[in-house]
Amino acid sequence: MDMDQKIDFERNCGFEGCNAFSLPLTEPPRCFLHIEDPHTWFSGLLSKKEDPTLSQRDLLHAIRRSHDLYREALINNPAGMQLYRKYRLQADPKGKAAHSFDDFIYFCIDAASTGITGNFAYDVIKSVVSRIPRAIKSSQTKKSFESVVHRDEYEKIRHEYHPDGKIIIEVTRGIESTIQARYRTTMWKEPEDE
Ligand SMILES: [Zn+2]
Repeated sequence: MDMDQKIDFERNCGFEGCNAFSLPLTEPPRCFLHIEDPHTWFSGLLSKKEDPTLSQRDLLHAIRRSHDLYREALINNPAGMQLYRKYRLQADPKGKAAHSFDDFIYFCIDAASTGITGNFAYDVIKSVVSRIPRAIKSSQTKKSFESVVHRDEYEKIRHEYHPDGKIIIEVTRGIESTIQARYRTTMWKEPEDE
């Protein structure tokens, strides 16, 4: 068994003009601002636990140090940033605190921006989030989707994306499995000592 494949943490982002460090195991190398599909990359990282060619210690290190950047990358799109700024303003109106929000906040903002770009009604996303099975829920949070993303804000942004008035009002398997998968990855927690 070859355990010598090291994860290179010193690579730079390959995006033109960017000198930031790239996220581990991105191909081509990309930082959190320039990665195109952060979810596929991060869930790939989590699924590499079964890969015997990688040192598990390196892999856990890679996951640990890139989880927060994954959250940032997920909401780094126009709808996500609009919702994030709104939430930040609500959480800290004077803008004085340094911000490090719970994973659940990022999860809700990502779920909402996914719903907005897919043109789903607010209630669709709200009900998918509220029906996430307990088996998936790794931790309890006291916050609700509604307290993080307000209906009027969601609908305002959705109208900007989809001005033609059509809207999806039923839960689809696609949106449900997307949001459930994002829940597992955004809420990732350090494994308990085995
Ligand atoms: Zn970059």
